[in-house]
This record gives sequence, structure tokens and C-alpha cells, in this order.
Amino acid sequence: MLFFVPDLEKEFVKFRQKAKEVLPGSDWSPLHQTPGLPPEWADIVIVGGGVVGWSTAYWLKKKEAIREGVRVVVVERDPTYAKASTVLSVGGIRQQFSLPENIHLSIESAHFLRNIQEHLNVVNEEPVDIQFNPTGYLFLAGQEQSAILEENHQIQRAQGAAVTLLSPQQLQKKFPWLNTDGVAIASYGLENEGWFDPWLLLNAFRRKAISMGVFPCYGEVIGFQYSTREMKTDDDRSVSLKRIHHVNVRMPNSIEYQPVECALIVNVAGAWSGKVAEMIGIGNGPEGTLEGIKLPVEPRKRYVYVFHCPNGPGLECPLIVDHKGVYCRRDGLGGNYLGGLSPTEEEEPDISDLEVDYEYFHNSVWPTLAQRVPAFECLKLKSAWAGYYDYNTFDQNAIIGTHPLVANMYFATGFSGHGIQHSPAVGRAIAELILDGKFKTLDLSAFDFIRFFKGTKVLENNIV
Ligand SMILES: Cc1cc2nc3c(=O)[nH]c(=O)nc-3n(C[C@H](O)[C@H](O)[C@H](O)COP(=O)(O)OP(=O)(O)OC[C@H]3O[C@@H](n4cnc5c(N)ncnc54)[C@H](O)[C@@H]3O)c2cc1C
Repeated sequence: MLFFVPDLEKEFVKFRQKAKEVLPGSDWSPLHQTPGLPPEWADIVIVGGGVVGWSTAYWLKKKEAIREGVRVVVVERDPTYAKASTVLSVGGIRQQFSLPENIHLSIESAHFLRNIQEHLNVVNEEPVDIQFNPTGYLFLAGQEQSAILEENHQIQRAQGAAVTLLSPQQLQKKFPWLNTDGVAIASYGLENEGWFDPWLLLNAFRRKAISMGVFPCYGEVIGFQYSTREMKTDDDRSVSLKRIHHVNVRMPNSIEYQPVECALIVNVAGAWSGKVAEMIGIGNGPEGTLEGIKLPVEPRKRYVYVFHCPNGPGLECPLIVDHKGVYCRRDGLGGNYLGGLSPTEEEEPDISDLEVDYEYFHNSVWPTLAQRVPAFECLKLKSAWAGYYDYNTFDQNAIIGTHPLVANMYFATGFSGHGIQHSPAVGRAIAELILDGKFKTLDLSAFDFIRFFKGTKVLENNIV
């Protein structure tokens, strides 16, 4: 027996080694680094440790040709994530978009989430569970919006999305608790839709990426050191091409900063990515020139209200989006629900803090909820929170790719309310762009920065 135990231990060591070879991941722990502080150099610095940042980090390591061939650092200024969109989001995923790119980003991401164990499990750690709730979105259209809804439906079906149209009679039969007054037609998702816990997804990406050798660093990116090269355009104008050499990272609770030498950076700073772009002068040139075009991303405050209604719809309750824009969904099984409404341009609230406007619920959200689901006439508002959309003021769609005048800055931002669901596929797309030099799985070139200069909007009909 005494001889048997050391042999068994040896077998375990061998088994763990084999498991590591099959599941990418390691106990990488660089001795020369102080945990959390910025290293002196990295190949790739990711600015922003939200879900998009950590997904990008994961995919970069997953795709690297040789293990530890690419040194990736993720810089996050707030380890509590108090204002990050990721953790304040509602965590919904749907295929019901009007742009083929958005539909495919969702289908790919849903596929990733379905197989999340294969991607994000770490040897010797608890299996990943993001508490995915597979429930369809139900978009309701009145007479005015019905043609657009039907057109979207055709596009979704053509792209392979499993969605169906329901008449008011069919709706009534399927969801007897729903008031169909004013509904001309509805669109319902049959698969690849639902919601999950945003924190759990962020942590799963983070834990896995760290196990693969990504270096997490706490600090704020406050500027860049770069060189410029003058170039002539076809119409004989001078433009400066910039290349970043160092990212200046200010340490937490300090005025000191550490320059991190790097080959390229990924700007995934969410609602603050416009600010990060400004640090390298993007948008500072004369109006009407490429140098004068800003990265059009800014924080926009959105409220999420939590309410209780013991007699409300049960397990079969979809994520309802009324034609007035009000949405709601079940939250667990105890008669709790989440809901909200994006304000109009004129109603946009002050973004200086994350205070909640409770009047907005009473005046703008509740009346539609109560009209649509009569049981909600007797709801009790329990709590609420606010978060920032990483809002693209130009066309409310993602910005994915490089900048024409800053050679080594990549973007993945501006998702305007649909970033968490697309994060798995977007992280892979950015990793492809960096490591393969082009998009390979999904062509996302429509989301290029250059559209702002050309003035061509990439419009999505289904923004919630
Ligand atoms: C109320 C609400 C509901 C939402 N619902 C959904 C939904 O149902 N489905 C969906 O798909 N999406 C939803 N979204 C949108 C989604 O949350 C975002 O699009 C997504 O989380 C963006 O992720 P991110 O990693 O780009 O940004 P973030 O999560 O904001 O991460 C960016 C990080 O960058 C850090 N940072 C910023 N500047 C610097 C700097 N200079 N130096 C270092 N770090 C910096 C920030 O601290 C932050 O942690 C919702 C958003 C909100 C607010």
C-alpha cells in the first residue's frame, strides 16, 4: 500500500500534464512580475478589462501559434468594475437583428456559450456555469412597424436564424396572459436567444485567459508615447501616421505611471473608448479631415428596474420588447422581473453619475408594461440600477478594426446595448485581425472606422 501511493501520485501528475495539453491553460506565473502591476513590455496591451477585453485576450492566447508566443496584458483601472457596462448589463442575447453581421455575431456567440465548457473550463477548477436561460425574445409590432418587422424576419431567416412570426391570435394562444391590443404581428426567437449572468461570463473569460498566461494589470491608461511619419495623400495633402510605442499606465492610488512598451494596443475601454482614442489625438485635427474624425463613442445612461409581481407570467415568459420600446423579462423563478426603456434623444439623462430616475419608471415604463401584461398593473417596484451604454452616436453599431492613421491601435467598441452578447465572436474577430491580418470567421469590415469619414451609416433597425 505504501508503495502504491507515490505511484498513484505520479500517475496524477502525468494525468494533469495530459489534461493541460488537451485543454489550453497553464500555471503561468512570471517570477519577475509583481502581480497586478504593469510589466515593462508586452506584445499586446488591451485597454479595458470588461467582457470584450477579456474575450479578446482569451482568443489571442487560444490562437497563438506557439505557447506563450504572444505576451498579452489587460489593463483595467477599476478592479471592482463599479461602472463597467458588462456587470451592469441585462445579459440578453438574441438573433433578432436586421444587419446580417449582427445576426451572425449572435449565432456564433450563442454557439460559443452553448459549448462554453470546452472553451473556458480550467484544469482543476470548478466548471463554468453562466446560468444561461434559453428563452426567446418576443418583438411586438403595431401596424406602423409591421412591414419593418416582416422585412427583418426575412433577413434573419435568410441568415439561418430560427425565428417565427406570430399573428395576434397565435400570440394569444401561446401567451394567454399577454394583451395583444395594438399588436399587428410579432416575431419570436426559437433558439440561440435568452439571457445569462454577465459577471459569470466576465469571470469565466478572465480566469481562463489568466490560466493561459495573460497578465492582468490594475492601473489607468493615461496616455501614449508614439512616433509620427508624414505622408502625402492622393490629393497631395500631408497627413501624419502615428505608431504607439508605449502605453502609460498610472498605478492605482498613485500619481506615478509606468510606460509599457508594446507592439500594438486594443482599445476596448467601452463607454470611455472615445476618451482613450483622444489620448493619441484621434479627432483632434481640422474639421472635415480624417484627422478631425472622433471615435464617436460616449457613455449614455440606461436604467434597469427590478419589480415583483406574484401573479405575473411564469417560466414560459419570453423577453418581451413592446413596439414602444419598453422591454421586460423574468428574473429567476420567484415572481421577479427586470424591465426598462431607452430614452429618446431629448430625454437623455445626465451622465455625471449613476443615480436612478424612479419617476421615469412610473411615467414612461410602467404604463406600457401594465397595458401589455395586465397582471403588471399590480406590480411592486423593488429596486433599480443604472449603467452606461457604450453608445456610438453616429449609427449605434459596433466599431471593429483599426484606425487609418494610427497604425497599431485596434478597436472593438460602440456596441450601443448589444456588446455582451457579441463579446465571444468579437474577441475572436479582433484576434484574427491581429494574428491573421484579416477577418476569417466573420467578415466584419462593415464596422470599420473609415465609415465615419465616408459618412456611410451602418444602421440596425432593432436597437433596444
Ligand atoms: C443597462 C444595460 C443593459 C444592457 N443590456 C445588454 C444586453 O441585454 N445584452 C447585451 O448584449 N448588451 C447589453 N448591454 C451592453 C453591454 O453591457 C456592453 O455593450 C458591453 O458590456 C461592453 O463591454 P466592454 O468590455 O466593451 O465595456 P465595459 O464592460 O464597460 O469595460 C470597459 C472597461 O474599461 C475600463 N477602462 C476605461 N477606461 C480605461 C482606462 N483609461 N484605463 C484602464 N481601463 C479603462 C473600464 O473601467 C471598464 O471596466 C447593456 C448595457 C447596459 C448599461
